[in-house]
Amino acid sequence: MHQPRNSAEICGIVADALAGGAKLEIGGGFTRADFGAPNRAAERLSLRNLSGIIEYDPAELVLTARAGTTLTELNAVVAARGQGFAFEPWGAAGSTIGGVIAAGVAGARRVSAGSVRDHLLGFEGVSGRGEVFKAGAKVVKNVTGYDLPKLVCGSWGRLVVMTEVTLKLLPRPPERLTLLWRGLADEAGFALMRQAMHQPADVAAAAHLPGQATLIRLDGFGPSVAARRAHLIAALAQYGTPEALGEAEAALFWAACLGGAALAPEPPLWRLSLPPRQALAAITPLLARGGQYVADWAGGLIWLTLAGHEETIRAQAEQAGGHATLARAPAEMRARIPALHPQAPGIEALSRRVRRAFDPLGVFETNRFLDEPNAD
Ligand SMILES: Cc1cc2nc3c(=O)[nH]c(=O)nc-3n(C[C@H](O)[C@H](O)[C@H](O)COP(=O)(O)OP(=O)(O)OC[C@H]3O[C@@H](n4cnc5c(N)ncnc54)[C@H](O)[C@@H]3O)c2cc1C
Repeated sequence: MHQPRNSAEICGIVADALAGGAKLEIGGGFTRADFGAPNRAAERLSLRNLSGIIEYDPAELVLTARAGTTLTELNAVVAARGQGFAFEPWGAAGSTIGGVIAAGVAGARRVSAGSVRDHLLGFEGVSGRGEVFKAGAKVVKNVTGYDLPKLVCGSWGRLVVMTEVTLKLLPRPPERLTLLWRGLADEAGFALMRQAMHQPADVAAAAHLPGQATLIRLDGFGPSVAARRAHLIAALAQYGTPEALGEAEAALFWAACLGGAALAPEPPLWRLSLPPRQALAAITPLLARGGQYVADWAGGLIWLTLAGHEETIRAQAEQAGGHATLARAPAEMRARIPALHPQAPGIEALSRRVRRAFDPLGVFETNRFLDEPNAD
């Protein structure tokens, strides 16, 4: 495993790999090394030694850190100043901010605050040519050049080794209140989430745990939260009176939604990204085949466990205008089913051209996604 301490050492590692025809698998905490095809013939390039905060300006709500800094460390530092990442990144212990950005991770508040790509202001990295480059800026207002920070979010280590990242922060809401309706049927749970999102109540997050709970979260200052709570309870009276939970009481319910944590760990886990209005209809045939799920982002994100039926899962997601990612599965299944939803031919050709621009010889192509046997 390569463990460089700076960009210059990464450039050297990339140059050696290019010269020797080796492939490099970039990683931070490697907590998702089991994502995608197994048995990749690649040398690991760990960002673990590129760790630490470079600059943090609480007054400007901007932070620059090395990409291998753990989420735990970052969250602790910004929380001590009453701030946080509005997109609520999450991951297993050891997850790094570079891994979170490359995996395009966001938590429950994504539905109201946007995703990681809405909060990454800039980055520095090393391309597949072995060259250091910068994109974006350390200020919120920046309008020059291509918006490369958007491109690296969800790039899964295929474009660039991020070495430094600059992110926007927000003050932590002083109050977080969760309204919880117990035991609503699926149709009612989805309808409630949809109606809540359309109310002038600035809903922060909305989730449905089938058979258990439908959750609506309100973030903000006390009097504002109280007024919005009263409004929502009246507007959603047809679903019954909800319980009101404080942040600590509600934490277990929200944690159950993250990464499908509430679901049995044995069957393959899928992550479906769907238009909320179509989500329930899209998954109903999958539930009839034994699927279990939890819904987050007001129905826009479905974590589903179901053995077999891979083609049906992908077809249902596609027909609804969404896509299905194979988030967790045995190695045998990951060897034959691409983790990421196959793209339409035109989009796939475009993605390939973008990858070639950053990585002409395919040094970051490890065949993890079963769509890149050779760099052309
Ligand atoms: C579909 C999906 C499923 C998930 N499932 C889980 C889960 O089951 N459990 C869980 O805890 N979290 C899960 N997450 C959350 C997420 O994977 C982690 O929070 C985060 O990616 C882990 O950070 P890491 O440093 O360990 O990443 P790693 O596992 O090291 O890397 C993740 C990806 O990011 C790339 N990468 C890492 N660092 C860099 C860098 N500096 N520059 C460029 N690319 C980089 C890697 O090549 C890899 O493709 C999931 C996210 C998604 C989108």
